[in-house]
Amino acid sequence: MRTTKEIRESCSKEIAELQQVCDHSEKQWMLYSWADGHFTGKICLVCLLCEKELDSEELPIEWLHYDPVTVDDKGVWYLPESHLEKYIKEKNKPIGRC
Ligand SMILES: [Zn+2]
Repeated sequence: MRTTKEIRESCSKEIAELQQVCDHSEKQWMLYSWADGHFTGKICLVCLLCEKELDSEELPIEWLHYDPVTVDDKGVWYLPESHLEKYIKEKNKPIGRC
């Protein structure tokens, strides 16, 4: 029977091999957090196939604060899309082709 340590090492080696041969054809910018809800102030371009970090970008600290809950003209409460969310959405827009 293999130990957990041996299984972890084997999986890490397989992932490293996958990341070397992957063409990273599917990628997305996303928030980089050290735990759920704990944003580091960095966004990363990550391959969706092999999960390799391809690029990263530090963001201004003031972008980490969300706007307060707002009420629309019909009296419905909502949380406005933050500047950070808009920025990531714009970076993930597909590039047009001629
Ligand atoms: Zn990849």
